[in-house]
Amino acid sequence: MLDFVIIGGGVAGLSAAAALAPGGSVLLLEGEETLGYHASGRSAALYEADYGAPATVALARASEAGLKALGVLSPRGLMLVGKADEADDFAREAEALCLRPLTPAEAVARVPILNPDTLAFAAATETAQDIDTDLLLQTYARTIRAAGGEIRTHAPVTAIARVDGGWRVTAGGTDVTARRLVNAAGAWADRIAVEAGLPPIGIQPLRRSIAQLPAPAGLSVMGWPMIFAVAERWYLKPQAGKLLVSPGDEDPAEPHDAWADDMVLAEGLARYEEMVTTPVTRVETSWAGLRSFAPDRALVLGPDPLAPDFLWCAGQGGQGFLSAPGAAAVLAETAGGPASGQPGDVLRALSPARFR
Ligand SMILES: Cc1cc2nc3c(=O)[nH]c(=O)nc-3n(C[C@H](O)[C@H](O)[C@H](O)COP(=O)(O)OP(=O)(O)OC[C@H]3O[C@@H](n4cnc5c(N)ncnc54)[C@H](O)[C@@H]3O)c2cc1C
Repeated sequence: MLDFVIIGGGVAGLSAAAALAPGGSVLLLEGEETLGYHASGRSAALYEADYGAPATVALARASEAGLKALGVLSPRGLMLVGKADEADDFAREAEALCLRPLTPAEAVARVPILNPDTLAFAAATETAQDIDTDLLLQTYARTIRAAGGEIRTHAPVTAIARVDGGWRVTAGGTDVTARRLVNAAGAWADRIAVEAGLPPIGIQPLRRSIAQLPAPAGLSVMGWPMIFAVAERWYLKPQAGKLLVSPGDEDPAEPHDAWADDMVLAEGLARYEEMVTTPVTRVETSWAGLRSFAPDRALVLGPDPLAPDFLWCAGQGGQGFLSAPGAAAVLAETAGGPASGQPGDVLRALSPARFR
């Protein structure tokens, strides 16, 4: 019998398996043919520590050194922009993100497509960084294999049953048994719990879309920061010489292979166009992924009080990459591994016990 079977080959499952592998035998099961096929292959890949619920911020801060040590961070910066009628929301968000104020002229000097007629407020930080998400997933996979762990892709879990001393999991027609099961199934996390005979927690997948635009003519965009509009009404990120623009959508969805809705993209691009001087002439490609949140928007990490050998690693929402090393350390601690360094109030805020 294995020590751990981990369901899900996104950043949650891979980081969890890498953290658990030194303490026992691990097998990671991924239903798709490739790792990172769903949310983890579709993110905006930003590291910003002060983004999210307080427990997520604690995980993000704890993750920075780990991400740096893995060589996956590079400078990006972040700017928040607001219109004249958004003064209060702008001030609240700028404070939460610990941004320093910029004059509109300074903002336009940094990002020349910003429209001085609609831009009333701006603030920025240089601490936000790009995450090389492909490299991070590959590095976790290598770590798992180097520790003797196994990764099986094209292995959808179709049945989970209790057996003496653990769980029997059927994946891709084969049965495996393990003392403990880690549920890192992203948008499918509640379905895995139900298959294991446990009540769902209420993990809600919300669709988030991205349009890739060509860089505005003649402009080199790679030195620009990521730009958030107030209330995430849109955001922009330079990537590989292109601009990624998201409408900031959060539409509830059933777990599925998500795609971008044309109308949602068009409305988001119109909000973006209001604040820039360069019209959108062409969308080169677009995609969407599911960001899956617990009801209180904090991650869900650790044993289920109703079945302590069933560990949740879910609810990563829009912060699964920036919180990955810290979240995996908490999960490993709850499975008897080394202390994560997180204080008791953070561990309680992340525990599945808050929903039971
Ligand atoms: C547009 C967008 C922008 C984002 N931007 C950022 C960002 O800038 N920074 C950041 O940190 N995060 C960002 N995120 C969030 C981040 O991508 C997610 O938090 C993270 O990828 C979630 O990882 P996961 O492993 O939980 O889920 P997933 O990557 O979805 O992995 C879950 C896996 O479980 C597998 N699975 C499900 N059911 C089964 C089964 N029965 N059997 C076997 N396998 C199964 C699925 O196939 C899937 O591969 C963004 C997300 C989106 C969509």
